[in-house]
Amino acid sequence: MIKQPTKYQDFHDPQARPRYTGIATFFRTAPAQDLSDADIGVVGVPFDGGVTNRTGARHGPRSVRDQSTLLRRINSATQVAPFTLARVRDLGDCWIEHPYELETALFEIESFFRTVTEAGVMPLSVGGDHAISLPILRAVADAHGPVGMIHIDAHCDTGDDYLGSRFHHGAPFRRAAEEKLIDPARVIQIGIRGTTNDPDMWGFSQRSGMRVISMDEFADLGWRAVAEEARRVAGSGPVYLTYDIDSLDPSQAPGTGTPEAGGLGVHEALRLLRSLRGLNFVGGDLVEVAPPFDIGTLTAFNGASILFEILCLLAEAFAARKGA
Ligand code: MN
Ligand code: MN
Repeated sequence: MIKQPTKYQDFHDPQARPRYTGIATFFRTAPAQDLSDADIGVVGVPFDGGVTNRTGARHGPRSVRDQSTLLRRINSATQVAPFTLARVRDLGDCWIEHPYELETALFEIESFFRTVTEAGVMPLSVGGDHAISLPILRAVADAHGPVGMIHIDAHCDTGDDYLGSRFHHGAPFRRAAEEKLIDPARVIQIGIRGTTNDPDMWGFSQRSGMRVISMDEFADLGWRAVAEEARRVAGSGPVYLTYDIDSLDPSQAPGTGTPEAGGLGVHEALRLLRSLRGLNFVGGDLVEVAPPFDIGTLTAFNGASILFEILCLLAEAFAARKGA
């Protein structure tokens, strides 16, 4: 007789069976269709129709799922055990039926995430390019009002129209501010750098009141002071965390469409994230992992490791609200 688990839940304890076995789900969590069974839903958004340069992030969710199976149950730095704090489930991929129609696709993503947030499930998404954060924020803001946001990225993504589109991956947070999904006074953008063709490229961020921390300022201040500044800016209200993998130095995250030299080290990024414990997180995402440019799954693995830190933050926030 062939031995196989009767229920996928048999895999829910990553240590119960070898971590390299079974179908890859995010962190080897049980897949769920039933939203009443989930507190935090990890969702793949395999869409990169908003990319302005090198495509490939549509392959991100599958690669991050695979690499996330390497991770274990407990964060040894903080002792946080996210799977005991909340029911974490892999909700599968956001199904996009019109991937070649940018605005239609974004509405489809929005509709999917409304289903998630309206069921009271906190979304943790894996893109996909950064354009996907706008429709996710539409759903999140509907549930929580304009949110604060901690945005770690080489780019502010507050550009405007590009080649006739207002919804490419360089503009989601200008749109989000215009649509009052985020409160610019409670937004901090960390790791900004690189070349630009427009001297006012990131002017919107500053004029709207966002706190922009360039990579140079980050290097001068260090992760500890930057984390303190992020806590001050985000305050006690609901806050969303969006992590663009291109914030990392290209040597540690080559698999991304728009690399910029001289970025965060993975360890700095992990320490920065761990220092955000206790904020009132209501969702998060990891975007721009583009496996076609990756080298030996380095980017997807570092991305999965960052995703685990974000999961820990969300799980603690969930447990704090539940206990309150
Ligand atoms: Mn971005
Ligand atoms: Mn970026």
